[in-house]
Amino acid sequence: MAATVSEAKELVSRLCQQFYSQGWVSGTGGGISIRVPSKHCFVVAPSGVQKERLSSEDMYVISDVDGSVIEAPVQKPWPARAVKCSECLPLLTSAFELRNANAVLHSHSIESVMVTLLEADSTEFRCTNLEMIKGIKGHGYADMLVVPIIENTPREHELVHALRKAILKYPRSNAVLVRRHGVYIWGDDWISAKTQAECYHYLFQAYVEARKFNIDVSKPLSGTSSAGGIKRKKSEKLNGGLAHAISSQLTSTPDPPCAGLVWKRGFEVGDLSCPLFEDVPEALRRWRSKGIKVYMYSSGSRYAQKLLLSHSMQGDVSLCIDGYFDVINSGLKTEKSSFFDIALTLGLYDKPSSILFYTDTLSEYYAATEAGWQARWIYRLGNKREENSPNRPSQVESLDY
Ligand SMILES: [Zn+2]
Repeated sequence: MAATVSEAKELVSRLCQQFYSQGWVSGTGGGISIRVPSKHCFVVAPSGVQKERLSSEDMYVISDVDGSVIEAPVQKPWPARAVKCSECLPLLTSAFELRNANAVLHSHSIESVMVTLLEADSTEFRCTNLEMIKGIKGHGYADMLVVPIIENTPREHELVHALRKAILKYPRSNAVLVRRHGVYIWGDDWISAKTQAECYHYLFQAYVEARKFNIDVSKPLSGTSSAGGIKRKKSEKLNGGLAHAISSQLTSTPDPPCAGLVWKRGFEVGDLSCPLFEDVPEALRRWRSKGIKVYMYSSGSRYAQKLLLSHSMQGDVSLCIDGYFDVINSGLKTEKSSFFDIALTLGLYDKPSSILFYTDTLSEYYAATEAGWQARWIYRLGNKREENSPNRPSQVESLDY
């Protein structure tokens, strides 16, 4: 999304230059379109032109309402080709329409083509347990990232039916691969589209490189819980409700200083198990049933957090957790910037108030709320009971949402 038409024109030309240098839009293929919601239009580069040489005045402005051309670029003298609007226009607008996206890009990168060749018999690209999966909206490190693959057609506009079908069939995906052709990727705004495009391309390349060494990144890691391999269907509840709940307040054991082999072995043989506060299993079930995603943010490493929750006295509750954040990777829980970073990772930097954070520490409560999150200050057994004070938030007794 851009605030003005001229800003969108500038962005499209600058991003095309950048994407050209990344090999995404070479040979005049590919492109990007950015919506300007306040003006009910979007900006798109012309078709068949050298994307790295575009400037603001070369852009088309198209009505969001009826698809009519509001502004067309001036025809340049010979030997410049006749300007025509992007052939992939109906494809770009499919993501605008079906996903309420505000920026869509189309890449002809070699890695996006390679994954569709390596997955010749499949209609899906899959990968899991790769850090960059976190850059894809609504996904965590251990999630299975699934991108549908549709078959190419001789003319680009003929893809539209299959593309729309794939967008509707895969509501968690923010991309559709086209075999032997490239990929469409979209986001809530140009920043989200660009960030996710970088992550998707990185993951495609990682997949190709791993295959050279017979490493299959489409399978969950052996010996870990199947949390990453489970295909979850959840409706994200963004309109006024919560999309995500994050808590550092699930277990009643202190954070482990380090989760070494001794811990792991102890858990595996059953000598160790982690007690949960009694409201936790019920809250996890309740949140799941509302389609809310649940994450943990703790001082203990992400590995240790997962280990604890996989071996709780109430069973393996790690299956209810969508991802883990720790202070090593996300920063201190008392710093506002850590919460900004996590919201960015979750693809919710523009909707921080859709995240609810539970903590028993007031300084963490303030850091979260300063970053725009909702927060609850929770009283946990063993903590000092705080007196009610008009200057402080009131304490809740349990995971009450
Ligand atoms: Zn194309």
